[in-house]
Amino acid sequence: MKKQSGFKTYRDEIYTAAHNDRLRLALSRAVKSFRGNVKNALAKFPHTVELAEEVQKIKEKAIPNMEKLTRQAITAIEANQGKGYIARTPEEALKIISDLVGTKKLIVKGKSMTGEEIGLREHLEKIGNEVYETDLGEFIIQNLGDRPMHILSPSIHVPREDVARLFSKIMGQEIAPDAQIEELVGVAREYLRDKFFRADIGISGANVVAADTGTLFIIENEGNIRLSTSAPPVHITLVGMEKLVPTLSDAFKVSEVTWRYANYTVPSYVSLISGPSKTGDIEKVTTYGAHGPKEFHVIFLDGGRTQLAKYPHLKQALYCLRCGGCLYECPVFAVTAGHFGDKYFTGIGAVWAAIVNKDKEKAASLAYTCLTCGRCRQRCPMKIDVPEMVIELRKMLAEGE
Ligand code: SF4
Repeated sequence: MKKQSGFKTYRDEIYTAAHNDRLRLALSRAVKSFRGNVKNALAKFPHTVELAEEVQKIKEKAIPNMEKLTRQAITAIEANQGKGYIARTPEEALKIISDLVGTKKLIVKGKSMTGEEIGLREHLEKIGNEVYETDLGEFIIQNLGDRPMHILSPSIHVPREDVARLFSKIMGQEIAPDAQIEELVGVAREYLRDKFFRADIGISGANVVAADTGTLFIIENEGNIRLSTSAPPVHITLVGMEKLVPTLSDAFKVSEVTWRYANYTVPSYVSLISGPSKTGDIEKVTTYGAHGPKEFHVIFLDGGRTQLAKYPHLKQALYCLRCGGCLYECPVFAVTAGHFGDKYFTGIGAVWAAIVNKDKEKAASLAYTCLTCGRCRQRCPMKIDVPEMVIELRKMLAEGE
């Protein structure tokens, strides 16, 4: 049978999604709650809007200097007895991580869009490791055999009744289809608890990295990052080079703007990690490997980012904080979720597909699905002009660039 083109597969997927009532039910619930939460968070902390303007300037300066900032961060991480690496391609990143991990390991993993970008979990499973996604949404996606549909809420398209059915299957215990959400969360908590403490390796991403101290900032609410990055003896982080900013104080600013626009007045946890655990409690001799990880490895992924930074209009895609706010404003996303995307979603996803993944067919599909309505630009703390990028991209694709 003749293989269907990427465009036809995309068209079928997006049509099917648009006619899926359960998807629309889950999305309408999520959009309503998200918009209300962001409005409250910004009303309570009105300085965030001004802070976002400052962060925009920080990102504008940092992106052309990604290379230099990465080297500076690696020097700082190694001074802290960690190890830093630059991976130019996804394949290089997978090779570095596979060499560190080996095989037959138990791995607990936090949510990471960069990990998704390079197919990290699937790769580690393929080479014989047992990998558990520990973010609740990712855990649902992993067990459904699905792919994430939102950058912050990967299982946004799965209503609670479907989660109850899935958990009944995984845990081997009957969970009523009308179970309360608290009960579903409790069941997942019990199931993952011992995995954190039995794990050989914890893997995470990072929201921001301060180049001067080599400090990773990881924002979360569930507590799974705290456990994944501190209970196992080895911590590995994979992070895109666009996440670097010059100083620790810049990183605090980026973090605050990120979580506020991601719908939180304040998140439950922000982990700042600069090296393996250490103690100086016996005779003031600094000794590495105390209660937390004994090893700390950070892989910085270029993967086309330095290339993207050279395009005058498209480079703004690298300013994205991945707060996810624009997705809740997008009228196409509201009926199709992450089907309107690839590794990244909506208009930003089109740019990413074209320049980073070099998939012109996917890029064109996404660029021509975008309505260029500009609602996302109004919501975006970085004022990323998605319509401008999409129009430029359409031109480039038409000219065969
Ligand atoms: S484009 Fe803007 S609103 Fe959308 S995720 Fe990125 S920073 Fe947030």
